[in-house]
Amino acid sequence: MKLWNQDSYLKSVCTCSCPKCHQGSMFQKMDLKKPSSFFEMKPRCENCQQSFEPEPGYYFGAMFISYALNTALFISVWLGLEILYPEYSLSLLLTLIVIAAILLLPFFFRVSRSAWIAIFIPYQAAKKST
Ligand SMILES: [Zn+2]
Repeated sequence: MKLWNQDSYLKSVCTCSCPKCHQGSMFQKMDLKKPSSFFEMKPRCENCQQSFEPEPGYYFGAMFISYALNTALFISVWLGLEILYPEYSLSLLLTLIVIAAILLLPFFFRVSRSAWIAIFIPYQAAKKST
């Protein structure tokens, strides 16, 4: 079983591509000069026209995925500090966690939304013409 082929749920989520066709991108391109672009979604897939906002408040549940990702991040930072610098202070730990959470915020936002929509919209492989 290949984890990173065209049909892969994991690849679709990590690359934030359309859950239905795995071709179109769900989000606008990131522009460092315009930080709000990190969070802008396209209304629908340019390849298969799948709506990325099926109903208002659709991504409420993505918050739970984001929560799980952030918990994993916090534990990773804590364990990393515990191993690399065992004499750390609580303020150092909290500072590193806040910096890591802020830096990874756009990534976690996109991946959690991508994972959430991929739960409910199944992949439909394009029909191959022979
Ligand atoms: Zn699509």
